[in-house]
Amino acid sequence: MVQRLKNYVGGEWIDVEASAFHAVTNPATGEVIGETPLGGAGEVDAAARAAADAFPAWRERPVEDRVQFLFELKFLLEKHAEELAAIVTRENGKTLPEARGSVRRGIQMVEVATGAPSLLMGQSLEDIASGIDCESVRQPMGVFACIAPFNFPAMVPMWFFPFAVACGNTFICKPSEQVPFSQKLVWELIHEAGFPPGVLNLVNGGKETVNALLEHPTIKGISFVGSSPVAEHVYKTAAAHGKRVQALGGAKNFIVVMPDAEMDAALDAVAESAFGCAGERCLAASVVVPVGGCHDEVRQGLIERAKAIRIGDGAQDGVTMGPLISAGHKEKVVGYIETGVEEGAELVVDGREQGQGEGGFFVGPTLFDKVKPDMKVGSEEIFGPVLCMMPAEDLDEALDIAGKHPLANASSIFTTSGKNARRFRYEIDASMAGVNIGVAAPMSFFGFGGAKGSFFGDLKAHGREAFDFFTDRKVVISRW
Ligand code: NAD
Repeated sequence: MVQRLKNYVGGEWIDVEASAFHAVTNPATGEVIGETPLGGAGEVDAAARAAADAFPAWRERPVEDRVQFLFELKFLLEKHAEELAAIVTRENGKTLPEARGSVRRGIQMVEVATGAPSLLMGQSLEDIASGIDCESVRQPMGVFACIAPFNFPAMVPMWFFPFAVACGNTFICKPSEQVPFSQKLVWELIHEAGFPPGVLNLVNGGKETVNALLEHPTIKGISFVGSSPVAEHVYKTAAAHGKRVQALGGAKNFIVVMPDAEMDAALDAVAESAFGCAGERCLAASVVVPVGGCHDEVRQGLIERAKAIRIGDGAQDGVTMGPLISAGHKEKVVGYIETGVEEGAELVVDGREQGQGEGGFFVGPTLFDKVKPDMKVGSEEIFGPVLCMMPAEDLDEALDIAGKHPLANASSIFTTSGKNARRFRYEIDASMAGVNIGVAAPMSFFGFGGAKGSFFGDLKAHGREAFDFFTDRKVVISRW
């Protein structure tokens, strides 16, 4: 049944009169399951007004009262976690265990945000000059908004809104038009949790909705997660309109495997990083750099692991890799595989042969060897299950390859040498670094975000930095 999505504004579900709609599909079957209205400035304005109206009373509620709504939401999310995971699988394609993991990570954001009474505290000092005292307090700023990508439909908006509202702000969320159903359920739970009308608003849409959010005069700050070209556009446009911005962009993640690594565990982790979630993770391994004499062992181990993956509908038991998000994205990933062959990389495992399932957007795990840094497959973000091998003589060369890439989201080393590990963590540009970890994903109580072309802004997502992003630090100096 094709369902038309609504917006949630001022505590009510609203029909959107849009002239265009995005067809939402189940990527495992190609079946159309929904229609996302592609509204624009009018819908954003209505949400911004509702959020601005709700702000004064929400801000005045004691923080201890505000977080009670988050405790209630956490309880409801736990109750509906399985239903939410099933929706993630249905609209995004990732397997049910992967979807459950992402829902868990999202719930953990709500848990950390309930610590606001402690985490929002400021600082004070008596007698900064004779008889003069000084204090710094964190104050909410008003209306914030987030713009989310397709790859973690339930989790990514939760990187932001629990922290924003715990701090006393009000909020507008724009999910990806490709995966609107997860946030539909989250907002139904928000409604059930009893948040006052206007505190949390949901606006569906595409790029016109995004641009209206970036330009709206009432909105104080924007949190964005998506590809680097859009992240840069969001950063520049929102900043030009006087807003705070944190814009998390795309990735090309390098994984260095040293010859002294515990090879079985290392290759399990590399294969899971590259092919888990069908490679549609901003922390996915894109390039594996086997150092010195371990090239053949790494290659053979990855071939075996790629071939052991079972592709299919992620809702079915035993399936270990689901489809890509859309027909268009499948075409793009297949195009990269063709380009890699034309560029002279050696195609060791060809995922095109494993594309299966009627109507679904499947591409199997793909492995290229002898990839050079200047090849398109070695340099551009593919965002699919395509892993490139780029052998290096030594750690110097491996660090040089990673250091020259303009993106720096995540990077990992596999080694049993403390000296190699220390040098890697000290020198690598990527600001999410793993040592013997395949997916270096900071949890809710740490900050999340990359460096160089993978991140635009300064304060990262969630963790303590969220309390900096979502507040103004006012300094009060007093003499009586
Ligand atoms: P995307 O950039 O295409 O879309 C992200 C959001 O921006 C969506 O809500 C979309 O509606 C909007 N958008 C798209 N094009 C736009 C435009 N021209 N102008 C204004 N708004 C626009 O990203 P995606 O394909 O949904 O997600 C995949 C990307 O997200 C990958 O590049 C991945 O690396 C990145 N990502 C990064 C992180 C991170 O933490 N750095 C996390 C998840 C995903």
